[in-house]
Amino acid sequence: MQHKQALITGASRGIGRAIAEELAGQGYDLILTCLRSIEGMRDYARYLEETYAVSCTTFRGDVGDPSSTERLFASVNKLDVLVNNAGISHIGLLQDMSPEEWRRVMAVNLDGVFYTCRLAVPLMLHAGGGRILNISSVWGNVGASMEVAYSASKGAVNGFTRALAKELAPSNIQVNAIACGVIDTDMNRCFDEEERQALIREIPADRMGTAREAAALAGQIIASPAYLTGQIITLDGGWI
Ligand code: NDP
Repeated sequence: MQHKQALITGASRGIGRAIAEELAGQGYDLILTCLRSIEGMRDYARYLEETYAVSCTTFRGDVGDPSSTERLFASVNKLDVLVNNAGISHIGLLQDMSPEEWRRVMAVNLDGVFYTCRLAVPLMLHAGGGRILNISSVWGNVGASMEVAYSASKGAVNGFTRALAKELAPSNIQVNAIACGVIDTDMNRCFDEEERQALIREIPADRMGTAREAAALAGQIIASPAYLTGQIITLDGGWI
């Protein structure tokens, strides 16, 4: 029997990499993308192929560039699952942010989700159903000081998720998001040890989450009935 196919953006590191292994474990053939780390991601794809007997293709491109996403989809003719995971943060006061920096955060975190979905949905309609999962943030729900652009981009992803879920529910396409709290990945390497400990003290679970925990939840949402749709599911150790 032909395997189901899943596309994961930003799969070279962190949460996306862990989701790749989770879905390989569920028997999905994978299309993995990243912006720069293509060599490491190719090695990882080979590891997944050998360990889980699935096929993995890799693509280097910028989710914030619509022509790059069109190139990616030019060779995709079947898609069951889309995980919009690629994202960037920007920390600093709003008044110190340039329009170019603002646009970049929006292009990667928000526009990128639109560019993939607009090309994935016709394939899912053709297949009679599908799953879209967006990796969002608790800051999209409540906002964070020094992360206004990031919070705005993830808040928009949450609105996008709820609206697209309504649009696609009649077509058996599930659309959800995970609002992550602090997950221990490269994204948080900008904090020094003191700042990390201060953050952890605020989290009732008394630790950061792991990429594997985020991936396990992603796997469960994707495996859940399509009737579970339009949800922003928080994974934050009781933090927010
Ligand atoms: P990492 O910084 O560890 O990894 C980011 C991944 O996204 C890498 O694979 C990177 O590729 C890829 N990427 C970045 N920019 C682009 C781009 N323009 N086009 C294509 N790929 C790109 O991040 P995390 O794993 O921590 O974060 C994953 C998602 O989870 C993000 O959407 C983030 O906002 C969200 N999130 C993370 C939290 C956390 O605490 N870690 C908290 C809340 C949400 P490359 O290796 O080539 O650079």
